Amino acid sequence: MNAGQPVSPAATALDDARPQDRYLAVTHDVVNQPPALEDYNLFDQDPALKEAVAREGGDATAAGLSEFGALAGARETIELGFRANENKPAFHTHDRFGNRIDQVEFHPAYHQLMAIAMEHGLHSSPWTNPGQGAHVNRAAKYYLHSQVEAAHCCPITMTFAAIPSIRKQPELAALWEDRILANHYDSRNVPDGQKQSVTIGMAMTEKQGGSDVRANSTRAYPVGAEGPGQAYELVGHKWFVSAPMCDAFLVLAQTTNGLSCFLMPRWRPDGSKNPWQIQRLKNKMGNVANASSEAELRGALSWMVGDEGRGVPTIIEMVAMTRFDCMIGSSAGMRQAVAQATHHCRHRSAFGNRLIEQPLMQNVLADLALESEAAMAYTLRIARALDNQHLEHERLLARLATPVGKYWICKRTPNHAYEAMECIGGNGVMEDCIMPRLLRESPVNAVWEGSGNVQCLDTLRAIQKEPETLDAFFREAAEAKGSDVRFDRFLAQLQNDFADFSDIQYRARNLVDRLALAMQASLLLRGSDPAVADAFCAARLQSNGGLNYGNLPSGTDAAAIIKRATPVVG
Ligand SMILES: Cc1cc2nc3c(=O)[nH]c(=O)nc-3n(C[C@H](O)[C@H](O)[C@H](O)COP(=O)(O)OP(=O)(O)OC[C@H]3O[C@@H](n4cnc5c(N)ncnc54)[C@H](O)[C@@H]3O)c2cc1C
Repeated sequence: MNAGQPVSPAATALDDARPQDRYLAVTHDVVNQPPALEDYNLFDQDPALKEAVAREGGDATAAGLSEFGALAGARETIELGFRANENKPAFHTHDRFGNRIDQVEFHPAYHQLMAIAMEHGLHSSPWTNPGQGAHVNRAAKYYLHSQVEAAHCCPITMTFAAIPSIRKQPELAALWEDRILANHYDSRNVPDGQKQSVTIGMAMTEKQGGSDVRANSTRAYPVGAEGPGQAYELVGHKWFVSAPMCDAFLVLAQTTNGLSCFLMPRWRPDGSKNPWQIQRLKNKMGNVANASSEAELRGALSWMVGDEGRGVPTIIEMVAMTRFDCMIGSSAGMRQAVAQATHHCRHRSAFGNRLIEQPLMQNVLADLALESEAAMAYTLRIARALDNQHLEHERLLARLATPVGKYWICKRTPNHAYEAMECIGGNGVMEDCIMPRLLRESPVNAVWEGSGNVQCLDTLRAIQKEPETLDAFFREAAEAKGSDVRFDRFLAQLQNDFADFSDIQYRARNLVDRLALAMQASLLLRGSDPAVADAFCAARLQSNGGLNYGNLPSGTDAAAIIKRATPVVG
């Protein structure tokens, strides 16, 4: 210390400190790091979502989307997502006395996220309160919640999606529906008879075939009378069963008359454990807060749902809804990735300027934002179609647009997550950032509920079985005709290419890609900010050689696109 210089209290304290504390003390100020992206409103700060909800017939006020957006953005809620993923579920075959229990233990944070989802009707609202905007409102809420944590959304989706299938057997629906739709979460491992609310899973996939479930070898033996609604015992195995602590499952098994669908509770009506044994938990790369299992059925008591031998058409009602939720989940993953990337770049500087102002980073961020908004706009349009299934156009549209969108949106997500991660630099690769989780989560939706090729083949099946689906799809897309010459050209070429059905399976991905792009462009041209629609047409409908993100052409209003996508925090 120089004599005569003013002495600061901190310096005096340092001088008084022991030598080792002095060296541990102030080394530098932390600067040029963003504030945490928390305590913000995921709905209010997402203009594209707000507009889409209104456009597709939702009612943000009635659905409480702003309040829910605040909850989803609260630091405490975000923290639940991290805790649930840091603490993977643990499987216990037996209790300490040797009794078989088949119990999966989840971290309390997982249960809290489940409770939030169910208390807000993410598994129930379009069934309990159907009509104008019901699916749109629910999809928007799911989109917000899934940005916090995606894994627990799996049982929420399955519980939601089970309703159309279970309704095919009215006496079973009468027993189960009220409890499935209760806006309450009961995590207790007790017989369903003791519960006011239950969750539902699905068990189709076996070792020898997941896409081709006709290969299922699990057998169903009638206990007494045979046929729909009757009791059977199931013997066999299932290779993937997610959320194995669900209270009941829709299961596929063979009777003498073919593959049929069954409702299998985890407990028998007398309160004893149904002989359904979990072998082990899957060691998943993503979706780790939720458990997925391998299981054996050793005479598990079940009831037939729908017609005997019509298991696939019965469970496909559930599958269609889960595919729709895959679209919401993947769109939500992209939205969260864009929020993280733009937020970081808004606060971080390099080479004398904020990253968000650097032209090359602007190109990448705007491109990521386009992809995210296009996915969300497509998803909410399908939500409107689900709200209007009594209208023929909407029914046909939902039939074709669901496999197209499931394929495209889920397929676009992993590379999007990876690029958004890179925008954040080294911090983006660290486990205390949400980006590694978003990246690991991203391939799961693409495989689950029918992988990419299976969705493309389902698209072709829909067109071949019901050609009107393609007419409806093109009719819808053509609503934007005349607003952009690039779009008009793209649509005309695509329609032309459907005139030739030779080699159609081989070309299916190319055709489905372009169907998705045509619909996304149409929706953005009709409803989004002109800068977004213009950039989408320029970047996605015209091939200019660039395959990575960051290939928007000169003249794009990247700043406007980024501003629209950036949550303002700090
Ligand atoms: C995390 C996770 C959770 C899951 N949870 C469940 C669950 O709860 N319940 C459940 O029943 N299942 C569940 N699954 C299983 C999932 O649905 C299947 O993995 C999926 O359907 C694919 O089946 P598979 O693994 O047998 O692959 P396969 O059917 O062998 O397919 C392999 C590849 O071949 C492609 N393919 C198949 N047929 C064709 C064809 N004709 N032409 C061209 N390509 C083709 C597929 O697209 C895929 O890319 C889960 C999977 C994962 C990853």
